[in-house]
Amino acid sequence: MYLILFGAPGVGKGTQAKNLSRKYKIPHISTGDMLREAIRKKTELGKKAEDIISRGELVSDDIMLGLIDHRISEDDCKNGFILDGFPRTQAQAEGLSQLFRKKNLPDPLCIEIVVPEDIIVARLTARRICEKCGMIFDPVTNPAPPDNICPKCGGRIVQRPDDNPETIHQRLRVYHEQTAPVRDYYRQMHRFVSVDGNKSVDEVFREIDEIVRKTFHVQ
Ligand code: AMP
Repeated sequence: MYLILFGAPGVGKGTQAKNLSRKYKIPHISTGDMLREAIRKKTELGKKAEDIISRGELVSDDIMLGLIDHRISEDDCKNGFILDGFPRTQAQAEGLSQLFRKKNLPDPLCIEIVVPEDIIVARLTARRICEKCGMIFDPVTNPAPPDNICPKCGGRIVQRPDDNPETIHQRLRVYHEQTAPVRDYYRQMHRFVSVDGNKSVDEVFREIDEIVRKTFHVQ
């Protein structure tokens, strides 16, 4: 099962990807999480990505495709995976198709989660994450504990440096200009569906899961 969770920042891709990953036992691959880990570990990639991310811009397609090629070649990906935050440009979508052809994999299904922009801005501004495991906290659906220590892994719960109003608006601009057109790529492949993300986490999950079960004939 090869899935792409698609949509603007803050629509809930990470939360839904984690739930799908748990249910279907396939890895959740978040390029944003991978880059943040590289920044934390101060690797060469992290040094390159830090400034780009803080400006709300995109890391280069070459770097991202190299990262994904490496990650999806790992052993845990052999029965499928869920991409979250990738592809983000037409070139990344085309590069991903090439990788799929090279590895003889079936076309992925692209599931877009749609949320109105004013809700996105409110969600991102309030969002907190565990800097260690990436768990997402939201004051309404999953509030962070008062000590700001992640109940799952003991990591620190923080606000992402790019979740500030100015960078949020830049990320949304970049999304509309460079990422949203990628929809048409998967539409033309007949591998594109859209779900309403302005509902509870459980309702959105049920909707996505129904699509997944029908498409892949799984329970
Ligand atoms: P995310 O956690 O998906 O919101 O990603 C955080 C930031 O990482 C983005 O705003 C980009 O700067 C960078 N990033 C993540 N995924 C990609 C990608 N596929 N292509 C380019 N930049 C990315």
